[in-house]
Amino acid sequence: MTYSYTQLSQYLTCPRRYRHRYLDGWQEKDSRASMLFGRAFEKALASYFRREDSAAVLFQEWQSCQKQGLRYSSGDTWDRMLHQGIQLLDRFCQEDRVRIPHPRRNLQIKVSRKLSRNNDFVAYVDAIGRLDGTRCLLEWKTTSSRYPEEPAGLLALDPQLVCYSWMSGITEVAQVVFVRKRLVEIQYLRTTITDEQRHEFGQLVEDTIGRIESAQFLPHSGIRFPQNPCSTCPYVGLCLGKPELVDRNLIRRPGAENLAWLDELNY
Ligand code: SF4
Repeated sequence: MTYSYTQLSQYLTCPRRYRHRYLDGWQEKDSRASMLFGRAFEKALASYFRREDSAAVLFQEWQSCQKQGLRYSSGDTWDRMLHQGIQLLDRFCQEDRVRIPHPRRNLQIKVSRKLSRNNDFVAYVDAIGRLDGTRCLLEWKTTSSRYPEEPAGLLALDPQLVCYSWMSGITEVAQVVFVRKRLVEIQYLRTTITDEQRHEFGQLVEDTIGRIESAQFLPHSGIRFPQNPCSTCPYVGLCLGKPELVDRNLIRRPGAENLAWLDELNY
């Protein structure tokens, strides 16, 4: 079995969600504009590092999503998102704080780790390069609102960064956050992951896989009124037995558990 960070985080969010996705093959439809825009933007970024025309790549990639019946979040339109994307690429180029040597080798890097005779763990790291001159592992994020920076040190608790540091052995990690808002902004957030955090993450992986392999899939979404995580869960139609919600949000791909690592390519 090949495990990935996405798989692990789905289980930790709610084990029932994991069962819907990886055992029963239900998958969220790829029509969220924000997610597809993120993928298009990352392709444009990769082309920027290869010294190609990144605005043209963004236009092309985003145009190819236009026919997919996109679901926009409030206030977003196809044109508006394109415009924000081009402004962000311009700003990224002007600020010039990130360098990726050998971009064909150092972007979308597959990292694998053997867990046992039967299990592997795989991750796709966005990039390894330099931020303000410091070598680090980099993750790109596109969002419509700023990432919180307070209290200081918060980023070191980000489970995805801890996971990628555990996978790669790289202690310096960073998120470059492309914020789509009226005046676009880029946040450059860097932190250090300790040996202890990496060790604990390894234990978390081992413990979680043990629970998956013993078929523990009881639902526990961490419900806390009024922030009920089920209300934003794509699988809520399955848990409530409402076929209209299932049709709206999900498609079924039997046997999908063998393709779990592909989730890592969802930006
Ligand atoms: S709707 Fe709630 S209980 Fe059902 S899978 Fe999602 S988070 Fe879990």
